[in-house]
Amino acid sequence: MFEIGIQLRKERGAENVFDFSLGNPEVEPPETVIDALRRVVADNRPHSHGYMPNAGFPEVRAAIAKTLAARTGISFSAGDVIMTNGAAGAINVVLKSILDPGDEVILLNPYFPEYRFYVENHAGRVVIAETDDCFQPDVAAIARAITARTKALILNSPNNPTGAVYSTEVLHELNKVVREPMLVISDEPYRPLIYDGHRAPEIAQLISRVVVTWSWSKAMAIPGERIGYLAIPPHLPESAALQNACTFANRILGYINAPAIWQLVVAQVPEATIDVSLYQEKRDLLCDALNAIGYEAPRPQGSFYVFPKTPISDDVAFIRILQTEGILAVPGSGFGRGGYMRLSLTIAREALERSLPGFKRALRKAR
Ligand code: PLP
Repeated sequence: MFEIGIQLRKERGAENVFDFSLGNPEVEPPETVIDALRRVVADNRPHSHGYMPNAGFPEVRAAIAKTLAARTGISFSAGDVIMTNGAAGAINVVLKSILDPGDEVILLNPYFPEYRFYVENHAGRVVIAETDDCFQPDVAAIARAITARTKALILNSPNNPTGAVYSTEVLHELNKVVREPMLVISDEPYRPLIYDGHRAPEIAQLISRVVVTWSWSKAMAIPGERIGYLAIPPHLPESAALQNACTFANRILGYINAPAIWQLVVAQVPEATIDVSLYQEKRDLLCDALNAIGYEAPRPQGSFYVFPKTPISDDVAFIRILQTEGILAVPGSGFGRGGYMRLSLTIAREALERSLPGFKRALRKAR
């Protein structure tokens, strides 16, 4: 998609290309985050740039554990938190720690496509469970997918690509089917990106056999800084062993430790979040316009993606039609669900507005 974007920009001029394909926040990080970064750099405390314990600076882990405990009511302490290279690093570390070759990991379809690579990086086998019509987990389908080899299920809410936020009721039911040794890896990089004044259910409160993975990439608009964590609830019987395994894996997978300066920054402002209303405004603008034109584009509840149906069942063919209008989108089949497309709300509002006639013409061309 990136290469096609470069080609289209050459052919049509950059201002006539409407890139809905990337999940790269177009907004700048909150000023409080940049202020914290300035303070950390000005402090220039000794050994700011050195090696450290593989799990991260102890005081940073303690600060994050405190925030997590306050939010979830679970008594996380410093030892339960391991600072990682984003959510991608965190998930790889957990999978490396728990998988033996041939062990199974359940993914809920449609899913973030890198999950498959993460699982296969560690000799695991992906097992797919379909979500329901509203992209909520289908607990009966998950129960059917569980075998003696199941070690984990990766859950992602608010969801990429669908924007679904998993409901308390569904999570409650899911908790009933998760049995040892299986873990739920709750991948939550979009947690604060939720609309219409709602709050996402606290997954760590609803699923007892959970490991939380997090990254500040989306909340603070800093995906290039590679800063996140994994958190292992102290009530898991295997928590001490898992802490050891994850700390070791954090090192031997080559991450070594999470970026030092950014650990110090996020510890100062752990809950800072970009202005979510900007995404909500673009969501409303795009969904209303697409629905008025004749698409089926439900409003997502969270994350910054819209996941409309493509007007023809061949989503890849429709993505090519959109490209003739300078519009870049990702086919749903890239996430395991054909007949849909993912549109990222990280596009500038002005470009979004100018793209709308192209969506209209593309619909006509497809029919
Ligand atoms: N999980 C999901 C659902 C994502 O969308 C992404 C990135 O887009 C990641 C994990 C990886 O996040 P990070 O790049 O912050 O490690």
